Amino acid sequence: MELQVVEQIAEVRQAVNGARQRGSRIGFVPTMGALHSGHVSLMEEARRDCEFVVVSIFVNPTQFGPKEDLNKYPRPFENDVALCQGAGVSLIFHPQPVTIYPPGFKTRVEVTGLSSVWEGAFRPEHFCGVTTVVMKLLNIVQADVTYFGRKDFQQQLIIKQMCQDLDWPYAIQTCATIRDPDGLAKSSRNVYLSPSERQSGLSLSRALFHVRDQIQSGNRDVLQLQQAMRQILDGTPGVIVDYAAIINSDTLAAATEYQPALTAAIAVRVGATRLIDNIELP
Ligand code: AMP
Repeated sequence: MELQVVEQIAEVRQAVNGARQRGSRIGFVPTMGALHSGHVSLMEEARRDCEFVVVSIFVNPTQFGPKEDLNKYPRPFENDVALCQGAGVSLIFHPQPVTIYPPGFKTRVEVTGLSSVWEGAFRPEHFCGVTTVVMKLLNIVQADVTYFGRKDFQQQLIIKQMCQDLDWPYAIQTCATIRDPDGLAKSSRNVYLSPSERQSGLSLSRALFHVRDQIQSGNRDVLQLQQAMRQILDGTPGVIVDYAAIINSDTLAAATEYQPALTAAIAVRVGATRLIDNIELP
């Protein structure tokens, strides 16, 4: 099937309805573009389950803070289209901001509590921008399954909570984090890193893998492991830590002792670039 690129909501609805009438399952991968192999892995997982896959490419202004990188966020649209084509995507939804936020737009969708800790503490309006745009995109596409990356751990948890609270009738699926061979989690923001900053950025995965390996070999001292993570990051030139924590994967509460369902999560700044990463602990 040929890849279709559309900008209007009515065009998405028409294409999706047509596919559904032909008996296709609909998969959806929301993105901000600047696509890399992490995004492609989501598309491939969608293609395994669904005959008709929709990708949205929309740099959502409301999830950027006033001092963040909205204007310089990379927008290599031609390359994005080619990656979608290669992954077997059927439809790209590439709306203008005015299509998503027409004059007179007044609604905010906010998941309380989960949105104000960790990332939310450093980016106060961020998750409200995310949940509002994701709810709109979910409603526009109405896919059987919508795919998110574990790379943005707090985001996928908040979206699942929103979908449960608002009775979203379709599935939300979380997919594994894709990394470069040296461990750095793929991110559209990695292009901002100079070679030496990229080297410093490897401290995130190094710290996370250290904690995972320690737990695997029997260490259950969560507070000491958190400290070890912090030491690895603090000992890396050019890294400023926002947080490095071991948290409950369901509640996001900081863990003080070993328990089932733990995640180690890190956010740092390397020069002007903010990097996040996390890992599920055994
Ligand atoms: P973004 O365009 O960065 O907002 O990301 C769009 C989707 O891709 C989100 O669900 C992200 O969690 C997911 N994603 C981003 N980077 C990765 C990665 N390295 N591995 C897996 N999924 C990712």
